[in-house]
Amino acid sequence: MDNEIIVEAGRLRDLVYEIIRLGGSDADECRIVSDHLVEANLTGHDSHGVGIIPTYIANLQKKLLLPNTSVQNTSDNGSFLQFDGGKGYGQRVAAEAMEYALERCKTTGVVVMTLKNSHHIGRVGAYGKMATEAGFISLHFVNVTDHFTIVAPHLGSDSRFGTNPVCIAMPTKEKSRPIILDMATSKVAMGKLRVAHNAGELMQEGILIDKDGHSTRDPGVMFNDPKGALLPFAEHKGYGLALMAELLSGVLSGGGTIQPKNKRLEGIINTMTVIVIDPSRLGDLDWINDEIDAMSKFVKASPPVNLDYPVLVPGEPERISSQSRARNGIRLDTESWNQILISAETMGLPHEKSIDISGLK
Ligand code: NAD
Repeated sequence: MDNEIIVEAGRLRDLVYEIIRLGGSDADECRIVSDHLVEANLTGHDSHGVGIIPTYIANLQKKLLLPNTSVQNTSDNGSFLQFDGGKGYGQRVAAEAMEYALERCKTTGVVVMTLKNSHHIGRVGAYGKMATEAGFISLHFVNVTDHFTIVAPHLGSDSRFGTNPVCIAMPTKEKSRPIILDMATSKVAMGKLRVAHNAGELMQEGILIDKDGHSTRDPGVMFNDPKGALLPFAEHKGYGLALMAELLSGVLSGGGTIQPKNKRLEGIINTMTVIVIDPSRLGDLDWINDEIDAMSKFVKASPPVNLDYPVLVPGEPERISSQSRARNGIRLDTESWNQILISAETMGLPHEKSIDISGLK
């Protein structure tokens, strides 16, 4: 198709690495950020993949994102750990904070960890996966601050929240097949509107309202002023979860909520509260694993309404997408691709060099 390109994941990783490097990041940071963004595309979440680079570059230039920043431990009290991300790359500081929390959980069995002042942390499921790889369960509540509001409360006609993601991650007997529920509390993630807007596509009915609070399918209402709003998923229930994610992360981390008295510089700051649990402290691990396995098999055995769409557990769609995209390459719409190339040029990477690195010649 003319309006999309297909890039091999490794090549895309190399291109992102180079753009981030030109932004001043050291080798480890380049690797962490490029791995995370391309992994998001592989798992099917283009909203949190390489298409977000122009935003990162804009924030770098405005000094709302500070390269080479490690997470700072601001409070350490047994099971309670608090961190400040110092406006560093969220992919780096959130992973560092998770590593502390997972290490601590080995001795305490449960950890409540908070992270504030982190630039965009990306796909929250990546941190849930870190927990399951260590054999732990994790619950993540996240808000988005420093940014204009995007999501309307239930029964409201304008926006009052970010897309406040929530993630619950559970290890299973097979380490490579954890159950990971990882979702925005809006009907779709904001990046999915960016992808649709760039591709000139309309959204489904019932996802968006315009500036007057009327239903619309045009993602453009989120990119032009005065803006419309995304709706929370599951009406009052999604709205309630979005509010709780806002409060649990913004308040407990000390980073603050998106309420208007807190200064907004129009960057993207995430705060996150994480609860890590070692399941072996609560019961026999063999029994726990067998029970999780049996329950997953039970739900998946429900006869599908449509044979083309079998019942899955959360985390499976991402694994299926990863396998397919690792084999067949990652599709990007040309508008998003051109925006990435322009960002690369701003950082001093000539167009031809980007094309060369991405293997599209
Ligand atoms: P989504 O709607 O595509 O998926 C949500 C969850 O549903 C996933 O866990 C997925 O495995 C599960 N799922 C999907 N189809 C399923 C099926 N048929 N059966 C069983 N489970 C199924 O995701 P989303 O809400 O668009 O969020 C996308 C990403 O955006 C997430 O990784 C989230 O962390 C991220 N996000 C980040 C921020 C931030 O500020 N950093 C904000 C919002 C969203």
